[in-house]
Amino acid sequence: MTTKREQAPIPPGQWLGLLGGGQLGRMFCMAAQSLGYKVAVLDPSADSPAGNVADRHVHADYLDPAGLARLSAIARAATTEFENVPASALEFLARTARVSPAAASVAIAQDRIREKGFLADHGFAVAPYTVLASAQDASAADAALLPGIVKSARMGYDGKGQVRVADRAGVPVAFATMGGVPCVLERFVELACEVSVIVARDERGAVATWPVAENRHRGGILDVSIVPARVPAALAVRAREVATEVAAALDYRGVLCVEMFVTRDGALLVNEIAPRPHNSGHYTVDACVTSQFEQQVRVLAGLPLGDTRQHEPAVMVNLLGDLWFDGPGAAAPREPDWPAVLAHPQAKLHLYGKAEPRRGRKMGHVTCLAPTLDEALGVARAIGATLGVPGADEL
Ligand code: AMP
Repeated sequence: MTTKREQAPIPPGQWLGLLGGGQLGRMFCMAAQSLGYKVAVLDPSADSPAGNVADRHVHADYLDPAGLARLSAIARAATTEFENVPASALEFLARTARVSPAAASVAIAQDRIREKGFLADHGFAVAPYTVLASAQDASAADAALLPGIVKSARMGYDGKGQVRVADRAGVPVAFATMGGVPCVLERFVELACEVSVIVARDERGAVATWPVAENRHRGGILDVSIVPARVPAALAVRAREVATEVAAALDYRGVLCVEMFVTRDGALLVNEIAPRPHNSGHYTVDACVTSQFEQQVRVLAGLPLGDTRQHEPAVMVNLLGDLWFDGPGAAAPREPDWPAVLAHPQAKLHLYGKAEPRRGRKMGHVTCLAPTLDEALGVARAIGATLGVPGADEL
């Protein structure tokens, strides 16, 4: 029996639409094109990683009705590559096209207050927190939540929109630093490590998760993902279950990343969710039977989910724009030594085609594959040393 929501698959050769022109969109385009689809990307910038590889670039703002109408005239289905896409843009497209994820799921992930409330209401463990909606809330913060981190409810990613606070007096100061916008105050948790699970869920409720990634951040930005994560087997199983349960609670359609903290005492806390493929899932492109991007295409087109099995241990190293500069004082960028990277035959290099390297900008990544995790870590260390990746020697 088919449910009301089930629709016939969209055959290859048809057009898929994408909101957003970044690197996640670029890899979505490539995966869709490999399966024989054509992709139309709507993005406001003339030169974007996804716009440059798409079959068509609709050069318009996300809220421009004419641009959205052009996209929906071409595409039978549409998705997004970033969570801050206006929900109204997804709703507009949903009038004529199949849209995944749904605007309602994206709206939860866009707002930390809604996200944490949703997770806590559904029984998922999260770091202790409270909502700071006003200066009074900030002045009355519970001492049990300190030391903590004040995080803005909206537009916070890659460590942006966060201030650490040591004591109660620091909370109103941090709230004011944020401009008085709605925030959460979260207790600082002693972490053993951070992990993430990418999960895909289709319109029939079929679910697939990938192996758990162990993530190292630097300056709030993902630096390295080590897969499989070096955590106890039972914890890895539980992390994949939690991701599956979060996707089910959202009645999610598409690819979702669930980022989690592993505390020093072995508890698993959900930190945040991203309603799209994720940087910590880039390893799936080279190390798994089906990548997170191919899966995003499959769900969007109503095709069966692919196998998520990992062929080989993998270490993914992010390549930030800093690597294009000879030290912090250098004014002019130069090209990193790619031949030296590729001299490691187990290294898979991905560059996103961004014309201008800037410090802190995600320019590409390299995934190191090997029969054992220790060997993959060794290759990542060597490549990190060649390129000047900070902290590579600690891997
Ligand atoms: P977020 O944007 O919430 O993912 O936070 C960025 C990074 O800050 C996380 O990946 C952690 O490394 C760190 N962080 C955030 N919240 C906490 C917390 N409650 N306790 C400890 N570290 C945290």
